[in-house]
Amino acid sequence: MANYCFAFNKGIEAMLKNYVVKNPKKEVFVAMFGIVHGKKCGIEFRIDRVVAFPNTADDPANFGEIPANWMDVCGEVCKLEQMRFLGFFHSHPTSKGIRSSQDTKFALETAEKEGNILMGIVSNRSVLRMYFVEENRIKIIPGTVNLFKIAMKD
Ligand SMILES: [Zn+2]
Repeated sequence: MANYCFAFNKGIEAMLKNYVVKNPKKEVFVAMFGIVHGKKCGIEFRIDRVVAFPNTADDPANFGEIPANWMDVCGEVCKLEQMRFLGFFHSHPTSKGIRSSQDTKFALETAEKEGNILMGIVSNRSVLRMYFVEENRIKIIPGTVNLFKIAMKD
């Protein structure tokens, strides 16, 4: 099986980190777009663009239901900007960046519809776990980071 890895394009990682830091009590939820290309590390997902979605949950430390039309928004961004939808990134403001059962369910359902995706989760200590999600399998992949710390274990 191929190796997968990820990288942030210029400025994206700083923007995400800043957004997470400025929302210490709120789970942020962001769609990631970019390209998938061959690199030394294997097949690299390069994140070129991010789009944030509002958190409308009663308890903003957690995210509620994901509105179905978000995927439609992502589809339009791809068409407009000629990019590929890469997946989602969200924060766990009060806990470790380990996927919850809700995260796992959402990731597998999205991958079933959209194909392979990434699911990035950042903890309250800026530790990032980037999961590569296939229809029936999830694994953590490595990536190039400068500001986040990266974890390779669940
Ligand atoms: Zn989560």
